[in-house]
Amino acid sequence: MSKKPAVKNAAAKSKPSSKARKYVYFFGNGKADGNRHMKDLLGGKGSGLAEMTNAGLPVPPGFTISTEVCNIYYREKAKIPSAIDREIEENLRKLEKAAGATLGSTENPLLVSVRSGAKFSMPGMMDTILNLGLNDDAVEGLKSRTQNGRFAFDSYRRFIQMFGNVVLEVPKDAFEHELDAVKKARGTKLDTDLDEGSLREVVERYKKVVKDRAKREFPQDPHIQLTMSRDAVFRSWMNARAIEYRRIYDIPDDIGTAVNVQMMVFGNTGARSGTGVGFTRNPATGAREFFGEFLINAQGEDVVSGVRTPQPIRELEQVMPKAYKQLREITTRLEKHYKDVQDFEFTIQDERLFMLQTRSGKRTGYAAIMIASDFVAEKLVTPKEAILLVDPESLNQLLAPGFDRDEWEKIPAATRGLPASPGAASGQVVFSADHAVEWVNQGKQVILVRRETVPDDIHGMFVSQGILTATGGMTSHAAVVGRQMGKPSIVGAGALEIDESRRQFRVDGKTVREGDYISFDGLSGEVKIARVASKPSEILQVLNGTLAAKKSGIYRRFEKLLSWADKVRRLGVYANADLPDQAELAYAFGARGIGLCRTEHMFFGEGRIPIVQRMILADSEADRRKALNELLPLQRDDFYGVFKAMRGCPVTIRTIDPPLHEFLPKREDLMVDVARLEAAGQTGTELEEKKRLLARVEQLHEFNPMLGHRGVRLGITYPEITEMQTRAIIEAACRLNKEGIKIAPEIMIPLVGLVKELSDQKAIVDRVAADVMKEQRITIKYLVGTMIEIPRGCIVADQIAREAQFFSFGTNDLTQLTFGFSRDDSGKFLKIYQEKKILEKDPFASIDTEGVGDLVRLGVERGRKARPSLKIGICGEHGGDPASVHFFHNAGLDYVSASPYRVPVARLAAAQAALSVKVGD
Ligand code: PEP
Ligand code: MG
Repeated sequence: MSKKPAVKNAAAKSKPSSKARKYVYFFGNGKADGNRHMKDLLGGKGSGLAEMTNAGLPVPPGFTISTEVCNIYYREKAKIPSAIDREIEENLRKLEKAAGATLGSTENPLLVSVRSGAKFSMPGMMDTILNLGLNDDAVEGLKSRTQNGRFAFDSYRRFIQMFGNVVLEVPKDAFEHELDAVKKARGTKLDTDLDEGSLREVVERYKKVVKDRAKREFPQDPHIQLTMSRDAVFRSWMNARAIEYRRIYDIPDDIGTAVNVQMMVFGNTGARSGTGVGFTRNPATGAREFFGEFLINAQGEDVVSGVRTPQPIRELEQVMPKAYKQLREITTRLEKHYKDVQDFEFTIQDERLFMLQTRSGKRTGYAAIMIASDFVAEKLVTPKEAILLVDPESLNQLLAPGFDRDEWEKIPAATRGLPASPGAASGQVVFSADHAVEWVNQGKQVILVRRETVPDDIHGMFVSQGILTATGGMTSHAAVVGRQMGKPSIVGAGALEIDESRRQFRVDGKTVREGDYISFDGLSGEVKIARVASKPSEILQVLNGTLAAKKSGIYRRFEKLLSWADKVRRLGVYANADLPDQAELAYAFGARGIGLCRTEHMFFGEGRIPIVQRMILADSEADRRKALNELLPLQRDDFYGVFKAMRGCPVTIRTIDPPLHEFLPKREDLMVDVARLEAAGQTGTELEEKKRLLARVEQLHEFNPMLGHRGVRLGITYPEITEMQTRAIIEAACRLNKEGIKIAPEIMIPLVGLVKELSDQKAIVDRVAADVMKEQRITIKYLVGTMIEIPRGCIVADQIAREAQFFSFGTNDLTQLTFGFSRDDSGKFLKIYQEKKILEKDPFASIDTEGVGDLVRLGVERGRKARPSLKIGICGEHGGDPASVHFFHNAGLDYVSASPYRVPVARLAAAQAALSVKVGD
């Protein structure tokens, strides 16, 4: 694979005077215009075909029409400029030469496949056409060349069916109906039992279907077939399921798909031919085993569609040992070359092997960790490269709960299927993707049960707990998509007799109806008719001390990978944690600091709300102080616990932030209570209390509480709250320091937009801290800083930095205030914004790099200018989002703070951000 690919500009060469861009890239005869680094332009499939061609692997020749043409197609309102058409024609002639066959020829017809292929794989979402080039004459040519009339007419009828369905939009059923009629008339069950004569009849019937349904003749001119198919593939970029898929996986709409036109090779010429797909390692478990499936005498679509259940790839060794050996050699070489697991497609035509695709294989989170650590052990990659092999998001799959094993073992299995994607799933059965979505919207947990899934099911698969199918193999649609989503999935559970119309299935002598509970284990393949309680993942069991680390292989590998990540990342990873047990978990997950302790959450602890309410209801400062004095020891104990859990790492504690009414009962509830008591004729203290509360609630009522009396504004109006909180923090720190654990608290003032707000609060903090230290006869180091979460705070960051020793960007509020989108109400319209492409992503989940991000950059720049040593972090939800972590790395922040469960994701994402400029392509 050391051959350097030659990237020549063939188009420019043939038209020396024109400055025309190149839109079509040829591959064939050991040389390709493209290579593996051109995924943007050629898509994953196109670049893989080019790379394999350059490496001298057996790849049928062809050409790739670039993704740019897809965008032109849409820009020009479904038209392709004639210059590009000419470039395609030139490449077609080159292909005819390489193939030694001519499109439409009666003696030796060239047949091609026309396939989509975007930069990111979108399995089954877009369209494909096979056997293009056949017509009434060419089919006779194919017959005489192959001496196989059955094969020729079978290919032709498949082509008409695919073309009719994909290009002319005739429903598949219309063709199936005719095929069934011919089979019935001949008394046969299987397609393969039909002889040439029967298939000739099928072809005639299919052409009639096209004429009746599409109101046009089936086009006999192969050039017209090609143009129409190319355009249909471009159109499929914008079909509903492809759009939905891109939305789920955050793939931009404007990158377009390439179209690959490639000489057909045939896996359906007879018993010495076949087709298959595979992976160089097991994509569900990561095991180092050759993994995949094949079908003898079939075309590619038969394997992935899940209609026929294929044979395991290892059986190919017995059937065609030479081709098997060659396939193993090639795929091992590809894995080494790409330094990643390869997902490949091949066809064997009369015992001759052809490679049709290679790309990095999608895998479960579990497999990703196993593979990355195995690769390092096998010296295939360095630890740094291994870090880049794992998608940070996929780590979440490893933290998902599993079944309580004891309970699970007690229930007998109803059946077993192929374990396509690991994980424990339990929920109510639904039989359609639409029902899955409906039920989940009603708050239910569902398992989608289908005979087989189709790409249109994507929305239902996404919301389900798990996916269970009766047919299909380990590479069927359900299996591929299930693994990619990290959804527990079982496929090919053949014992299920599914009756989708009656919404029920039978298995093991029992009938399971829609709404009944089932559970399954995606790792073993067992299905049980019961609801089974789950238990924390193996990793969590190790972290909470219920399982020894040495007993969990996956934990050790998980930890190892993250320790490699820790070595390369520049960003610190802290956690948002409010209570000691959360801090313990965060520390165990690898957080080495608390970036945000929301102290008000402590107010909700058992027995505390009445004290907090007394503080709020107090009429005088003296009464307020009395209530605060009761809160002081409680809060001090919590701080002590959090500090202790963090073993001397920085702990950032924020003074009170939310509007006070959040601690009081709802106005409506109080009104009902008062009315009830009055109606019952009561007059006692309970009624008086309720009335007083109601009056205070009404007094505190605000029209825009998020823009109201909250954050630093509370500390300024009620300085005694800041005093109490400072005292609790410093007293807890003194106690720990005396116990030998050095702790340097960082006290953070929220919602600051004016430097004087901070000065006011800082003076209080410093005064109380000095008092406490004097009383305790101990000096501790502490910092006073602020959250930067108001746009004005970013703009005047230089002024604020003169007072603040650290900044922490509160990107939740900063997003809310920059967009003017309410954090609590925007769900209603943000979904529509995304559907209409007004916004690509939810800005509360992934940082808006242009707007909010620019304010962050401005805040960093101005803050550091005024105080070069300023420590800067971020503690909004974005701290656990990989794309946002990349942004914060580049913006020069010191740390990100994420919720405890997202800490591993942030550690890995931070390492990838640090490496992305140095390693990988
Ligand atoms: C923020 O605004 O980003 C933040 C972390 O604070 P909160 O979510 O508590 O408002
Ligand atoms: Mg905030």
